[in-house]
Amino acid sequence: MTKDKTVAVVGAGLAGSLLTCYLARRGYTVTMYERRPDPRTGKVERGRSINLALSERGLDALRRIGLDRSVMADALPMRGRMIHPVEGEPGFQPYSSDGERAINSISRGALNNALLEAATALPNVTAYFDHRLTGLDPKTGAMTFSVDGREETAQADVVIGTDGFSSAVRGQLLAHTGLTESLDFLEHGYKELTIPARDGEFAMDPGALHIWPRGASMMIALPNPDRSFTCTLFWPTGGTNAFASLSSPAAIEKHFAAVYPDVIELAPNLVDDYLHNPVGVLGTVRCSPWHAYGRVGLLGDAAHAIVPFYGQGANCAFEDVVELDRILDETGDDWDRALPEFEARRRENTEAIARMALDNFVEMRDKVASPVFQAQKKVEHA
Ligand code: FAD
Repeated sequence: MTKDKTVAVVGAGLAGSLLTCYLARRGYTVTMYERRPDPRTGKVERGRSINLALSERGLDALRRIGLDRSVMADALPMRGRMIHPVEGEPGFQPYSSDGERAINSISRGALNNALLEAATALPNVTAYFDHRLTGLDPKTGAMTFSVDGREETAQADVVIGTDGFSSAVRGQLLAHTGLTESLDFLEHGYKELTIPARDGEFAMDPGALHIWPRGASMMIALPNPDRSFTCTLFWPTGGTNAFASLSSPAAIEKHFAAVYPDVIELAPNLVDDYLHNPVGVLGTVRCSPWHAYGRVGLLGDAAHAIVPFYGQGANCAFEDVVELDRILDETGDDWDRALPEFEARRRENTEAIARMALDNFVEMRDKVASPVFQAQKKVEHA
């Protein structure tokens, strides 16, 4: 049944496109506004990560609306982590004692495109790309967008900000309501590097999440369907600015030969990747409240971005969508009650995963390589 309220979803990333599917299925007329060009046209801006780990929490949200099979068609299950020491052979640590439980490596772009495709196939959805939200009156739902340098206006009964870490909707709530926020940037940033396929095959085991724990720095690699791996190197960007310390091909090769010796042979484009790929920032967003006037809300990274070391940011955003949908069921689509209830139910969980993600950075870069930890794992899995 068509609902009389109109909803604007600002940000058509992972959370926004999934949320649009759910709200349109409830009968809302939904308009999505996205700052970037339509990623399905191929004009893709360099993303925050090429692939990501999708676990049961995220899959559940896709399964509920029948999107899991299509999205998972190209996913690669990773049943444990492969630890690469500086010297010696890599060692595999399974995620479960039976070795069967897995997290899935999935292309961020393919996932976003599949969700956009599903959302825009619904008759009550309109999507506007190249629309950057620049203003919002939370009392009335009046919005302003920058479109090709022009200013356009729009209005909706309900506005949900799914516009990520640097959310403009959150910025408008900060300017016009009592919202307070804290952004804690991590000293470490990240850079992506590639291990291409070798003779048409994966150059390492595709059934594992690969980790090179090195204390001050760390690298991970996830497999891609084209048999390449995307590596993410985490290193301090602050005062020491470690990334900038390697500015010549010789310095890059020397550093990797000493710290990541097996990668030198696996990554023939290492120097080029290193010199040309950008350094991304990482951090935790905490803000309160996530809503205003019963008509504006925040969801996903816009409300609670976390560092990526538990691989749960997108999974958590998908869980948000399921919870909001459940609360709309329970409240009979009363947004005045639903938005505060959504925050009440999700805050504790999102604060917990934010802390766990920070803790897991220490475990991934240090403890997984320690003999004590490996002995403990053997006992657990015996
Ligand atoms: P985003 O994906 O950031 O989407 C926000 C959208 O809003 C974007 O499309 C953006 O263009 C748009 N937008 C921004 N501003 C405006 C504006 N003013 N107007 C209109 N549109 C706007 N999570 C996992 O679950 N597993 C992983 O393995 C994982 N790995 C990660 C690795 C790295 C290196 C990083 C950085 C993150 C990782 N994450 C992972 C986290 C995950 O990427 C985020 O949690 C997830 O993308 C959040 O989705 P979102 O839709 O809330 O925000």
